[in-house]
Amino acid sequence: MEIFDTHAHAHFNAFQADQDEVIKRSLAQGVIINLIGTQSDTSRRAIEVAEEYQGVYASVGLHPEHLFSKWVDEEESTFQSREENFDYTYYKKLAEHPKVIGIGECGLDLYRIPEGLTPEQMLPKQKEVFLQHIKLAQEMNLPLVIHCREAHQQLIEALRSQKNVSGVIHCYTSHWTNAEQYLTMGFYLGFTGVITFPPLKKNPQAQEDLWEVVRRLPLDRILLETDCPYLAPLPHRGKRSEPWMVIETAKKIAELRGISLTEVAAATTANAYRLFTKIVHN
Ligand SMILES: [Zn+2]
Repeated sequence: MEIFDTHAHAHFNAFQADQDEVIKRSLAQGVIINLIGTQSDTSRRAIEVAEEYQGVYASVGLHPEHLFSKWVDEEESTFQSREENFDYTYYKKLAEHPKVIGIGECGLDLYRIPEGLTPEQMLPKQKEVFLQHIKLAQEMNLPLVIHCREAHQQLIEALRSQKNVSGVIHCYTSHWTNAEQYLTMGFYLGFTGVITFPPLKKNPQAQEDLWEVVRRLPLDRILLETDCPYLAPLPHRGKRSEPWMVIETAKKIAELRGISLTEVAAATTANAYRLFTKIVHN
């Protein structure tokens, strides 16, 4: 059974000691991997790693969290983010590599606000850089891998004015109303281990809303992701996530929709090949 982890960071430092084993054990379980870059170094690194394996691909881009310094990642670790400007020529050169199948991770994030900044101050720069990614995706005829947190209205607005864009809204955690907008614009929605988590006590409705999206979406618009090393699905929650764990997210989708795991795997893999058109797939 082929299963496509369309959003992995198995080339990050969290895998420094055993990256080769992690990738090999994932490939051995039929997992195809899209390694996602988040800034200039991790984008280049994603390609270098992808070059080493059949069934491993790369996407290149600049994550909104790397546009400002003093970034603190609360999910896994704490780090000082670099402040990077989007170098169009640099990323274009990377995107020309045969293993590069997508542009991103790019997008908007108004959730994690660095000290001394307001969302209003951050948005113009994020938008500007996101538009550059769109331009690159259009020029290279590649789909976008989009990160969005607390900024769906702004993102929908930014995408609505565009022509000839395709892509995935990665780690989708919002409700049906937003999902419908992305669907109308032709986008795919990517789901991570987050859908396997139980509802939060303080806000159970959020998870119910997310499950509603998983149930209502046309099966041909769903993609699987791990976002590893982050967001390990149940029953691995709290551990470092790895691409092969993507099966747990597929199982949850099967359960929520009342269909078989094989059907979910087949459909989501076909979806990935349909979106990432640069993959030569026989
Ligand atoms: Zn990611």
